[in-house]
Amino acid sequence: MTSTLPGRRSLPCAIPDTPLAAAIPGIETCVHCGFCLQACPTYVNLEDENDSPRGRIVLMRAVVEGELPLDDPSVGAHIDRCLGCRACETACPSGVPYGQLLEATRATLRAARPMPLLGRAVLGVFQKIAALRAMLFASRIVRATGVPSLFARVGGRLGFASAMLASTRNALREHDYDFGMPGSRGAVALLLGCVMDGLFSRTNRATRRTLRANDYRIRGAPGQVCCGALHAHAGDLDAARALARKNIDAFERSGADFIGVNAAGCGAMMKEYGHLLADDPEWAQRAEKVAARVRDVSELLAAAGPRPGGSLPARVTYDAPCHLLHAQRIAGPPLAVLRAIPDLTLIPLTDAEQCCGAAGIYNLLEPATSNAVLAPKLRHIASTGAEWVATGNPGCLMQIGAGLRRANARARAIHPIDLLDASYAALSRQPSGTPTVQVGDSAVRADG
Ligand code: SF4
Ligand code: SF4
Repeated sequence: MTSTLPGRRSLPCAIPDTPLAAAIPGIETCVHCGFCLQACPTYVNLEDENDSPRGRIVLMRAVVEGELPLDDPSVGAHIDRCLGCRACETACPSGVPYGQLLEATRATLRAARPMPLLGRAVLGVFQKIAALRAMLFASRIVRATGVPSLFARVGGRLGFASAMLASTRNALREHDYDFGMPGSRGAVALLLGCVMDGLFSRTNRATRRTLRANDYRIRGAPGQVCCGALHAHAGDLDAARALARKNIDAFERSGADFIGVNAAGCGAMMKEYGHLLADDPEWAQRAEKVAARVRDVSELLAAAGPRPGGSLPARVTYDAPCHLLHAQRIAGPPLAVLRAIPDLTLIPLTDAEQCCGAAGIYNLLEPATSNAVLAPKLRHIASTGAEWVATGNPGCLMQIGAGLRRANARARAIHPIDLLDASYAALSRQPSGTPTVQVGDSAVRADG
């Protein structure tokens, strides 16, 4: 039986009271112009209109109208293959909220078509703090053995997962510094993040140091949990909402002016807490207020200049995380961070705005498409001759880092904040002596 939703245009609805039914206004925004097609990595790589934004919106409409059932396997397959990179949103002149449509579709399809066991297991771990900590602790132990580097080149998922873990090792030496700033730009509470805290803790420390060096104060936010992005993107909106409520509570109690995030996917999720909890009268306003305080760390640093560091002669290219560029529309601040580093050569990367294929747990669930999307990225990186690929998201760091290792490339992936941190460390050691900053395999004189 079909019905037409009250207050909507005439699109009949075969699936009332579902997230996808609530997304009908967004579906109707699409005028099928096709401007988004060439921006879509799955369309470009698979050359199937059903794997394009326009094609997927047609499938969503067909499900809403009852032309295709919720459990249609081809609908599920094409929706599963979407990276959620939201490059289509940037390309779309009609303002189609594609990311929200995708989440609503996945949430609706889940009822008829459960997620594969591997995906359910990973998302389950990210919901339980003790299990997550245990998994990340075990990952650090395995990483410390050096075994992942040995397995990085073997075929299949084991090889790629090993390469991802190996790529989380940070080759930069770490030095503390303090420029004695009073913190007059305001207080920042950092989202520690699951993977960032567990495998990139050095980058979290670098984030605190660089913010302090740019006149921010750092506040703790105890009780914070996973941001919920993986769950929301996979269609588990209830789990995402439960995690969001815990974070809202924790960051409200922090009393900080800003919520600093150094993982693009987490920042994009937290900025959308208002939308996520819009139908929850108890939490909607609180969610909006917390979301309005969220900043990517590059935004905070760019607002402060950022202050220039010490010399760091290195060839660096920048790859824009989709959830920074397309979801948060942040393009300039990460480049401002890199440009604050004297003697760093910034080399443009062809198609830097295209997805690397990481997309949360996509590279676990859709390895073939993920690799197809990664391949041109690696070719473009190789053609820059850069030693470092800077990118501000743990998924991208691991995906690109793994790809580089498996291709036996010399370049390594690194967070832009780590480079700025190394530059500040060099500055703090001037003028006495000649500071040396370890960059990749070679020691570089930080004074040039
Ligand atoms: S999503 Fe936007 S760009 Fe793509 S077909 Fe629809 S209106 Fe055109
Ligand atoms: S989110 Fe990315 S992969 Fe999905 S339709 Fe849009 S551009 Fe294509």
